[in-house]
Amino acid sequence: MNVYDSDRMQSILNAKGFRSEPELRKADVILINTCSIRDKSEHKVLSLLGELKGLKERDPKKVIAVSGCVGQRMGRTLLQRVPHLDLVLGPDAIDRVGDLIESVVERGERIVEAKFDQEGRSYSQPCVVNRAKPSEFLTIMKGCDHFCTYCIVPFVRGREKSRSIEEIIQDVKNLVASGTKEVTFLGQNINTYGKGTGQKLSQLIEAANEVEGLERIRYVTSHPRDLGEDLINQFGKVAKLCPSLHLPFQAGSDRILKAMSRLYTQELYLKKIELLKKACPDIALSTDVIVGFPGETEEDFQQTLKVLSTVKFSSAFMFKYSPRPGTKAADLGEVVPESIQEERLARAQKTVYSQIEAENLTYRNKIVSVLVESMDKKKKFFSGRTPHSKLVHIMNVGEASVGKIIDVEITDSNVSCLKGFYVGAPKTPIKIESNPRGAESDFSSSLSPTLH
Ligand code: SAH
Ligand code: SF4
Repeated sequence: MNVYDSDRMQSILNAKGFRSEPELRKADVILINTCSIRDKSEHKVLSLLGELKGLKERDPKKVIAVSGCVGQRMGRTLLQRVPHLDLVLGPDAIDRVGDLIESVVERGERIVEAKFDQEGRSYSQPCVVNRAKPSEFLTIMKGCDHFCTYCIVPFVRGREKSRSIEEIIQDVKNLVASGTKEVTFLGQNINTYGKGTGQKLSQLIEAANEVEGLERIRYVTSHPRDLGEDLINQFGKVAKLCPSLHLPFQAGSDRILKAMSRLYTQELYLKKIELLKKACPDIALSTDVIVGFPGETEEDFQQTLKVLSTVKFSSAFMFKYSPRPGTKAADLGEVVPESIQEERLARAQKTVYSQIEAENLTYRNKIVSVLVESMDKKKKFFSGRTPHSKLVHIMNVGEASVGKIIDVEITDSNVSCLKGFYVGAPKTPIKIESNPRGAESDFSSSLSPTLH
C-alpha cells in the first residue's frame, strides 16, 4: 500500500511540474513516505531525518516532509521533535501533497496535516499514473475496522471506506491502456470491500475479468474470518484470477489468536485452506506470522509451527512482535524476551524456507508462464512472476519483452527464486554471481522479494 501511495504522490507531484531527483543533496524537496507497522520502521524514519539535518542547515530553502503512517501517528510531536522538518502529512492527505508543499514554499510555514476520516470528504480518488508498469497495485478501499490488538493500522488509516466498482474498473481500463497486464487490488481487509455500499469483492473481480487486455488479477490482504465462499469458489473458475492467495494466520494457538482478537481459530483457518484447495487444487498460499506475542509459550508457538508444516506455504512474511503505542496488546505485559523471539523467528523461518526450497526444486525442467516485469540493475537478467506468484529470473530475453507474458523453462532454483530460459529465444546463458539471499538484492523494480 505504501508503494502505491508513493507512486501516487510522485504522479501528483509530476503533474505539478516536479521531477524526480535521486540525489538528496540536489533535491529541492525531500519527501519521506513512512510505515509505522513495527517499531523498527519508525526508528529508520527518525534516523534518516537526523541524517538530513546537515543538508537543511546548508540549504534552508530545502523542504523536508514526512508522509504516511508515522506522520499520522506522531503528527505535531514529530514537527516538535525534528526542528528541520517542514511538513507532516498523514495517509488521508496524500492527494493534497502538491498543494501542501507549495504552501510551505510560498508561506514559509511549517505544516501538519494529519486529520483523517473527515465528514463529507470523498476518499475515492481515481488512480493517477504517469507510466504504468506491467504489474500495478490499485487501492480499492482505505482503513480497517478490525482492531487486531497488536495492530496500529486502524489508528493511522482510519475506518474502512470503499471505492465504487465503476470507478475502480475505469482505473483498471486506464492502466491497461498504458500497458498494465496485471492488477493487484489493495485493501487492509479486502474481503469486506464494499461494506455499506452493497458491492462485493467477488463482483469487482467478475467485472475486472471482463476488462479486455487485462491478463491477471490478484488481491491482498484477506482476513481468514471474512474470506467468504463466493471468493473461495472464484479460484480456478474466474479465468484471470491468479491461483494464489495471501492469507495471514498470525499464530497457530487459539489462546493467542483470541488475545490478538483475530476472531478465528486454528480449525477455522485450516478449514478455509481446505476449501481453497478443493476449489483450486494447485493454489499457492502465502501468509503472515507474528512470533513472540505477549504471553506466547513454547506450546503456543508449537501450534504456529504445526500450521506452517501442515499448509506448506509458498511464501511467508514472519515478524517478531513489536509493541505499538496505543494498541491493546502494548499494555498486556507478559513480554516474551527478545532472545526467545529471535529463536522462534529462526525456527519458523527454517521450517518455511526448507519447504519453499523443496517446492521450488519441483519446478525444474517445467515450463511456466511469466509476466516479465523488469530487468535487473546490471542488465544481466529479466524478472517476473508466474500466476502462482513465483519469482522467476529469465536469462535470455530481450528488452522488448518487458510487459509480455512468456513461457519460461525452469533450469535452476533456490529458496528465493526460480531461474530459466524463455523458450522462444536462443539459450544464451548469463552467469549471475550468487549471494546468500539469491539474486533478489539485484532487483531494480517494484518486485517484492519472496522472503522477508
Ligand atoms: N491487513 C493485513 C496486513 C496488516 S499489516 C492483515 O490483516 O493481515 C501486515 C502484517 O504486519 C500483519 O499481517 C502482521 O503479521 C504484521 N504486523 C502488524 N502489526 C504488527 C506488530 N505490532 N508486530 C509485529 N508484526 C505486526
Ligand atoms: Fe491490522 Fe489487518 Fe488486523 Fe486490520 S485486519 S487490524 S490491518 S492486522
